[in-house]
Amino acid sequence: MIIDCHGHYTTEPPKLHAFRDKQLAGLADKSRRPLTTNLGISDDEIRDSVQGAQLKLQKERGTDVTIFSPRAAGMAHHVGKEATSVEWTTICNDMVHRVCTLFPNNFVPVCQLPQSPGVQPKNCIAELERCVTQLGFVGCNLNPDPAGGYWCDPPLTDEWWFPLYEKMVELDVPAMVHVSSSCNPCFHGTGAHYLNGDTTAFMQFLTSDLFKRFPTLRFIIPHGGGAVPYHWGRYRGLAQDMKLPPLSEHLLKNVYFDTCVYHLPGIELLTRVIPVENILFASEMVGAVRGIDPETGHHFDDTRRYIDALPLSAEDKAKIFEGNARRVYPRLNAHLDRRAH
Ligand SMILES: [Zn+2]
Repeated sequence: MIIDCHGHYTTEPPKLHAFRDKQLAGLADKSRRPLTTNLGISDDEIRDSVQGAQLKLQKERGTDVTIFSPRAAGMAHHVGKEATSVEWTTICNDMVHRVCTLFPNNFVPVCQLPQSPGVQPKNCIAELERCVTQLGFVGCNLNPDPAGGYWCDPPLTDEWWFPLYEKMVELDVPAMVHVSSSCNPCFHGTGAHYLNGDTTAFMQFLTSDLFKRFPTLRFIIPHGGGAVPYHWGRYRGLAQDMKLPPLSEHLLKNVYFDTCVYHLPGIELLTRVIPVENILFASEMVGAVRGIDPETGHHFDDTRRYIDALPLSAEDKAKIFEGNARRVYPRLNAHLDRRAH
């Protein structure tokens, strides 16, 4: 089985965007607020939204299941107040839940969190709990920078985040560290801010003893870990200078990387540097890069082809494609068992 641990609902029905437009307009002028949170989106509209996109690509590329979450750039935690984020997050998570309910063989849900800059992450616990215990979500996306490129909140290793981590541990769900859109013109969203977020989170983990405190807490760093695998020697050296344990002990029981790297040499590097036990297959489709690579004639984000081309054993590839995802997202197993019957 091939599990893609990183897919977003980026083909939402236009009515969802219409709601968001009204919600944002309502921040400036209350009379323009949406009158209802009932979007009036039918099941057929949801089916249509994924049929020609994610479902088609799964079939074409020979992948089986996508761990599916709301559009990452759409989370935009920096917009409005906490109440704005709570309302929007609930709606986005409910939409993802509907997709996964209509196509239980193809999608398993992961939630966004109702974060807001300067607001304690413990306020996200209720939504995480609702999604996991009532709606069958298997993880969450955690934004390390709800300020959208201005990094105003404490690092991920600060006590600020601990109540949320305690709940993640209790529910046995991991978080993918995932920023949202950038409102800082210095940082292009998917080209700079995303990869900065990944790299920054890793260095925060490195300089802390977070995983001594939370030995079963798990994070997936997407986009191949940002700059991390390429600079693995730098990180090992920094850890050594700081008298920290080797990274394999210090971080690799808790930190995982996905394969959203859009060329073969990048994936080759990732799998040479990071143990296969810490790599989860992912493509982030339909997502950040949608075009075809003229050098290969294939979509940049058709990452399965890169893994297939690696000189790894079938056993190692099975870990990347399936086994590691089942281990990192234990609640996934119940979904996949149901799928088998
Ligand atoms: Zn993503």
